[in-house]
Amino acid sequence: MNLEELAEEFLEFLDESESTAILTGAGVSTASGIPDFRGPQGLYKKLPQYIFDLDFFLSQPAEYYKIAADRIHNLFNKEPNATHRLLAMLEKKGMIEGVITQNIDGLHQKAGSKKVIELHGNAQKFFCMSCGKRYTAEDVLKMLEVSDVPKCTCGGLIKPDVVFFGEALPESAMAEAYILSENAELFITMGSSLVVYPAAHLPTFAKQKGAKLLIINQGETGLDYIADKKYECDLAEFSERIISLLGEV
Ligand SMILES: [Zn+2]
Repeated sequence: MNLEELAEEFLEFLDESESTAILTGAGVSTASGIPDFRGPQGLYKKLPQYIFDLDFFLSQPAEYYKIAADRIHNLFNKEPNATHRLLAMLEKKGMIEGVITQNIDGLHQKAGSKKVIELHGNAQKFFCMSCGKRYTAEDVLKMLEVSDVPKCTCGGLIKPDVVFFGEALPESAMAEAYILSENAELFITMGSSLVVYPAAHLPTFAKQKGAKLLIINQGETGLDYIADKKYECDLAEFSERIISLLGEV
């Protein structure tokens, strides 16, 4: 099938479904200039994988911030792409229930999505590990101009509100994600290689509960073998195509 036919079929699937859940991964944001982790240009090719180990952060916060401040937390000049815009549009039209995301870039919200379940946190949010006071990326980047480590007014260490290796996923986000998955008639994954658990368990769970599973990704995923349909395509181009189809309706 060509892109045009895939786009038309995608909209038919959405029409037939009373409840559709979306799971997005790094592949959705690469077109916005945000590198994924495991791809050919991925962060793990340039950065040591321990950068996201909790122990590393706690023992060497200055080193963490030196590496991550610009690469991970400075997102002010990043803009949503066609896929973010499409998902915001579909939510507004009542065609999807919401977006579950593995991404930490906040671009779904920037595009206008309201229901966004962030499984791995948000790189633009920070909090004090001692008193819980919250800080923005703007606050923290400013502190880093004058200090190696951002410290709270109480003296506590400020940590990004992202899930590090060695930490559990936020319980409330996971619970919401499972409810969305359980109720879904159609579960669509976009731009996720579906190898990072427990996020990758959601499509399996949705399917066990009766959902149809559509996987859209450039490249193989860990769950291709259980997908009802797999679209192998460039996500931004695919999304552009659907946006223009929706515009014609
Ligand atoms: Zn504090």
